[in-house]
Amino acid sequence: MLDNLLNNEKVEAIKSLLSDGNDFVILTHSRPDGDAMGSSLALLHFLKSCGKSATVILPNEYPPFLSWLPGIADVVLYNKMSEHADNLMRKAAAFFCLDFNNLSRIEDAGKVVETLPAKRVLIDHHLDPAPDFHISVSHPEACSTCELLFRVLWQIGGSDAVTKEIAECLYTGIMTDTGNFAYASSRKEVYYIIAELISKGIDKDLIYRKVFYNHSFGRMRLMGYMMHEKLQYFPKRNAALITLSFDEMRRFNCAKGDTEGFVNMPLQIKGVRFTCFMREELPGKINISLRSVGDFPCNKVAERFFGGGGHKNASGGEVRGSMSVAVDLFMQALESFSSELIM
Ligand code: 5GP
Ligand code: MN
Repeated sequence: MLDNLLNNEKVEAIKSLLSDGNDFVILTHSRPDGDAMGSSLALLHFLKSCGKSATVILPNEYPPFLSWLPGIADVVLYNKMSEHADNLMRKAAAFFCLDFNNLSRIEDAGKVVETLPAKRVLIDHHLDPAPDFHISVSHPEACSTCELLFRVLWQIGGSDAVTKEIAECLYTGIMTDTGNFAYASSRKEVYYIIAELISKGIDKDLIYRKVFYNHSFGRMRLMGYMMHEKLQYFPKRNAALITLSFDEMRRFNCAKGDTEGFVNMPLQIKGVRFTCFMREELPGKINISLRSVGDFPCNKVAERFFGGGGHKNASGGEVRGSMSVAVDLFMQALESFSSELIM
């Protein structure tokens, strides 16, 4: 059985927001991943099934391997259509803030949301949520925001609230945020939810193939090149680093979504507990992804060295500067955290 996630007060507060309002905006984090998109679209379908008008606003583009998700064609990109998005936000009766813990994670859209009086509902599993939200459903122990949203919908609307298309979106988020149940997924609640999602008629194997077996030829070749030429292994620190430049990405005809999952790969080396993937998004702008296993807190590295944050085992940040500046920061981080890495 699934315990209730929300107390009665929160259930009533969310229900009254839903019954009082007509237009809602769903927001999720910059460079959205499977959990961000899955939870946002699942909630979109739910609100529409309640007869409401709702829009998902993204700070920027979603990766191409999620383009099959039901409802994704209707999302509004803030970086492309900010005026339209501002109008929608001004009309919104409430904001649902999914899979992020701080308005800075939604970039320019956050600056507008801050000025608007509509209530903000947070549903998220990151540590340390900011006090930016009126109703907060924040559970870092959850495997994903999709897990939390399932439990919210279950409590508010019961089994009927979750349709097959909502189940497809939620399954996608749980599957991607747990690396297909390889990590952050040892709690029994996860499998209770999966059983319910499967009972809605989803084809979980097909969803797996749509997400993970849907890559370009260029990505496959880039992966081979990267593993052979660009992977640096630091056996004394149980760590690994991969860098890819803007030109290397272009040489293999790859865009940012094509590198999804690369950061996890060095964790397959025996003993490696911490990995870093650096991608030059534009000359002078390096995107940083960090992963760890066990107790090593890669979010602390992200905060201290890369101006970012995230979860204990999955975090990220950014470097404004050249790749060599970013690599120097990584080497400093390895030294600074050496006692925790060699344990
Ligand atoms: P990814 O490596 O997949 O881009 O990001 C992994 C996780 O790190 C995200 O789910 C998010 O929690 C966190 N993250 C990535 N970039 C940033 C950032 O710039 N700031 C913060 N606070 N968290 C980030
Ligand atoms: Mn997530």
